[in-house]
Amino acid sequence: MDAKTAYEQLVAWSKETSLLGSVMGVLGWDQRVTMPPKATPYRAEQFALLSRLIHERTTDPRVGEWLQIVEQSDLVADPESDSAVNIRQWRRRYDRMTKLPTELVAEFTRVTAIAEKAWEQAREKSDFAHFKPHLEKIVALVREIAERLGYEKEPYDALLDEYEQGMTAEEVEALFAPLRERTPQLVERIRNAPRQPDTSILHRHYPRDAQEKFCRLVAERIGFDWEAGRLDPTVHPFATRITPGDVRITTRYYEDFLSPSLFGTIHELGHALYEIGLPAEHFGTPLGGAASLGVHESQSRMWENFVGRSHAFWEHFYPIAQQHFGALSDVPLDAFVFAINAVQPSTIRVEADEVTYNLHILLRFELELALLRGELEAVDLPDAWNERFRAYMGFTPPNDAEGVLQDVHWSGGMIGYFPTYTLGNLYAAMFFEAAERDLGDLHAMFRKGEFTPLLEWLRENIHQHGKRYTAKQLVERVTGKAPSAEPLLNYFERKFGALYGI
Ligand code: ZN
Repeated sequence: MDAKTAYEQLVAWSKETSLLGSVMGVLGWDQRVTMPPKATPYRAEQFALLSRLIHERTTDPRVGEWLQIVEQSDLVADPESDSAVNIRQWRRRYDRMTKLPTELVAEFTRVTAIAEKAWEQAREKSDFAHFKPHLEKIVALVREIAERLGYEKEPYDALLDEYEQGMTAEEVEALFAPLRERTPQLVERIRNAPRQPDTSILHRHYPRDAQEKFCRLVAERIGFDWEAGRLDPTVHPFATRITPGDVRITTRYYEDFLSPSLFGTIHELGHALYEIGLPAEHFGTPLGGAASLGVHESQSRMWENFVGRSHAFWEHFYPIAQQHFGALSDVPLDAFVFAINAVQPSTIRVEADEVTYNLHILLRFELELALLRGELEAVDLPDAWNERFRAYMGFTPPNDAEGVLQDVHWSGGMIGYFPTYTLGNLYAAMFFEAAERDLGDLHAMFRKGEFTPLLEWLRENIHQHGKRYTAKQLVERVTGKAPSAEPLLNYFERKFGALYGI
């Protein structure tokens, strides 16, 4: 077979496999948004069948043969060409799938399915002992997976690479170090600041229908296309691209708390806009996919925090918000903007503010790294958690449910995932700086309700490249600088300095 034919085979195989994945996407969205509870057992069978079909396709030995042919051709001569990018990513996926024995993959699936149930029960009762044996198995399995996948410096790198390709634990440690040094001091200064926000205004009565109407209005003005997407309520909000013409976001409504629906919508909208901006002609091949989870999160965080929590954004939207919500009629704009930006150390990561959020991630990254280095065992986690938490936040969580048991990730075997959240924040700050360098005063645009220039800049500089570059390469291309925490820390100093008068 010649290289051209082998490449065509790979593209067809990749696109069909992705179609199966997008069918799973529809089923997954349905399960989390509209499915009646009694559908669960058959839905599980539908998922199991599709997963098996996808697994068979991804480990098909013919893929290995095709790859060998194309890798020796001039299709890989230019590393940034469409074909070279696809071939590199197919190889990476194929190796990861075939380096792990089928029994190990099956065991991992079985153990994590049981562990997720056990974790739910353990968190409910705040009983770490109930989760411990499952977590021990998971740690043993991910250690084995890391060994089998291989790494240059440390086992953690093999796991991190799954979520943030090309990034190593050493690089993450270096990137996070300035955050560890400077964030607790900033939080302390904020705590002692002369001005403090009144967050009770966000807990007045906000009717659900008005929230939904307002969320839709904001999404539309930023640039969401209802002909190619949806917004629905769910328990744990997410965004999903089914196909290029079908990108769906979800949110949740609390009538006594305005922030979750609003900033949840803008966050998921950021993810959706990235998915919409990916090159549709490459849908189903790696080139049509997101660069990394960190880059994905940079898009959601940019719209949620750098745009949606800015004073300028609310200079445009606040009069409209006041028309929707009677509860805001006596609240001045500045008081509202201060309240939605309140900084307050708290136990739960997903409820954390912009500044303390990264401390939650640092803590998890350090514990995961210690687990993979064998310096820590599952049994040690509650104490290690509480000790580090106190060092970062100044107090100890009241129980394990609000401490070591709060996140679903470890029960699902997702070790190496957490750093991508903070990487997303770092990249967002860098991208925002670069956009401002190219476009001028972004806040002046937001004040006028103009979001298209930023969105188009993101499409041109980030979205359209899909997986052509790694996150690191992309950051360097767009900003001219290597990834760094400085822009994020400077943004914190500027923004919270002004709000809190420090
Ligand atoms: Zn996100």
